[in-house]
Amino acid sequence: MALMITSECINCDVCEPECPNQAISMGESFYEIDPQRCTECVGHFGEPQCVQICPVECIPLNPFHLESREQLQAKYERLTAQAQVQAETRAEFALEVRSSASVAAQVPRASTD
Ligand code: SF4
Ligand code: SF4
Repeated sequence: MALMITSECINCDVCEPECPNQAISMGESFYEIDPQRCTECVGHFGEPQCVQICPVECIPLNPFHLESREQLQAKYERLTAQAQVQAETRAEFALEVRSSASVAAQVPRASTD
C-alpha cells in the first residue's frame, strides 16, 4: 500500500529528501506522495522513512492504493531497473559528448589570413 500525505502537512520539507524512491514532491498546497513510486520503503528500509521523520504524523496508508508486500517488492524492483537504465543512458551520453569534444579539438581551425 502506498502512503499519502494529508492536509495537516505543515510543509516542513524534511520528508522529501528522505524518500529513497523520489516519491515525495510539493503539491499545490502541501506535499504529495506519488503512489506509483512509493513502496512503503520496501527494498530500502524496514520502516517508512517519511513516517519516521514527520513531526505532525500526517502520513497514513493510502486506502486507494492497496498493495501486498510482494507487489511493493515488485514495484521496488521495477523502479530500481528504471533507475539503472537511466544511469546507463546518462553515462553513454556523457561518453559521446566527451568523444565528440575530443574529435572537434583535433580538427585544425581554418586560417583567417
Ligand atoms: S514510505 Fe518510503 S517510499 Fe513511500 S513516500 Fe515514504 S519515504 Fe518514500
Ligand atoms: S514531514 Fe510531514 S509535515 Fe513535513 S513536509 Fe513531510 S508530510 Fe509535511
